[in-house]
Amino acid sequence: MNTVLCGNWNYPTTIWAGPGRIAELADACVRAGIRHPLLVTDEGLAGTPMIKSALAALKDAALFGAVRGNPALSHVEAGLRAYRAGGHDGVVAFGGGSALDAGKVVAFMSGQTRPLWDFEDVGDWWTRADPAGIAPVIAVPTTAGTGSEVGRAGVILNEETHQKKIIFHPHMMPHIVISDPELTVGLPRAVTAATGMDAFVHCFEAFCAPGFHPLADGIALEGMRLIHRFLPRACADGWDIEARAQMLAAALMGATAFQKGLGGVHAIAHPVGSWFNTHHGLTNAVILPYVVTFNRIAIADKTDIIARVLDLPARGFDGFLAWVLEMRRELGIPHALADIGVSADKAKVIGREAAIDPSAGGNPIPVDAPMLERIFRAAVGGRLEAVGSAV
Ligand SMILES: [Zn+2]
Repeated sequence: MNTVLCGNWNYPTTIWAGPGRIAELADACVRAGIRHPLLVTDEGLAGTPMIKSALAALKDAALFGAVRGNPALSHVEAGLRAYRAGGHDGVVAFGGGSALDAGKVVAFMSGQTRPLWDFEDVGDWWTRADPAGIAPVIAVPTTAGTGSEVGRAGVILNEETHQKKIIFHPHMMPHIVISDPELTVGLPRAVTAATGMDAFVHCFEAFCAPGFHPLADGIALEGMRLIHRFLPRACADGWDIEARAQMLAAALMGATAFQKGLGGVHAIAHPVGSWFNTHHGLTNAVILPYVVTFNRIAIADKTDIIARVLDLPARGFDGFLAWVLEMRRELGIPHALADIGVSADKAKVIGREAAIDPSAGGNPIPVDAPMLERIFRAAVGGRLEAVGSAV
């Protein structure tokens, strides 16, 4: 075992980090009091040797492997049926953001009597939940991006309204995270790039969100520094374990930091993902420079700090924006939302839904539906100059 890249951390939850740590999955279940886990994963992973060996290591475990990207209520309901039919007492959520979110929400809902949408992240709606009815979760990420393994929420699509809803409860935080870079070495380059950019946007939007939160700011800055250094390496060589380990750390740092808030990138990316079923990280990566440009007057100082911490060739806002565009190009991320199948015909709806997305409140400049619609249209057409300024 490469002990240099190993660590046991205790914030924001218990994290066992390092190559090969998946061997401790059964211990993690015992530690969390889970005797009969339901392993929740997505369709793509369900039949892989990684999942087979995890199941083999767990006594009395069963598999629910029917989660899809942008998981919906129907996936949660199917998972809950499997959970109850099998008499399980906890969940191992194993996979990318979709599997982690679905697994966490299944564990959360396992002992609730009210419908899922009653627990949307609105005001104090989370207090409606019975905390005794929330089953423990072991989270095992296989991508370095979402950071859902250290989050207290799950994003679930309401198929009727085409809206992504954030289901939140403080006890949805997984009990133990196994952050093993060897599980991410098989990720294709494009997925590595898109998920890594999601982690970057988490750090960036958290750092630029208004409010006094030096803890989040410090974590976000170091997360961005790691991504700047290691994402190109992880993309160039998927078997670079150090790069994979640093990216997994950066991903959970992003989700830790964004307790402070997110911003316009996520506000737009959520409805775009709901309507066009696009990959969340890729959508964020495409939208990022448009929102950065829109926010220019409010983030000049912060982008200069980022440029200095990352030691970019040019400083200030312009140096930062130039680097974002260059990194996107290098990672093969398209410049326009049109390139990933998004059209402007839903622009009004996207603007309206982005404005009421909880992430919008974290944007450094207060945004309304017409502003977000304008940014979205500029991103669809790949026209950075059409974003305009916020004032
Ligand atoms: Zn995200």
